[in-house]
Amino acid sequence: MGIDTGFELSPRKVDYIKFINGKSGPVKTNTIAAGFGVDPSTITKTMAELAGDGLLVYTPYRGVSLSEKGKNTAQFLIKRHRILALALTHFGLSHEQACREASRFESYVSKDAIDQMCRAMGHPKKGVCGDITHDDSCLEV
Ligand SMILES: [Zn+2]
Ligand SMILES: [Zn+2]
Repeated sequence: MGIDTGFELSPRKVDYIKFINGKSGPVKTNTIAAGFGVDPSTITKTMAELAGDGLLVYTPYRGVSLSEKGKNTAQFLIKRHRILALALTHFGLSHEQACREASRFESYVSKDAIDQMCRAMGHPKKGVCGDITHDDSCLEV
């Protein structure tokens, strides 16, 4: 499973992938559980699902890290967030508000819509919370 429609991952899984992506090196399930205030057994189950989808790899005793596919997926999730947040600032929201509001609904926005928005905005390089990277799917017309 890669990102095709943009709806492959639940909002929770989106947050986990971003969390793991933000760490250097493998992340212990207990660290993720503590970060989200969730029971470790729940995290273990979700991590197994993400590993089953080919997004994560387990390193015994060290934790989980993103596979190549997981890293590509994380790139899309970050881009989606930044495109949406940037769009919201065009309607008067502050950077902080835009970032927070985008986090609430970004999981429900399709990859096609993000590619279209990216094109319509002229492939912006700077988002409100970081640089925006472009790939073949948004650059091809
Ligand atoms: Zn943000
Ligand atoms: Zn673009």
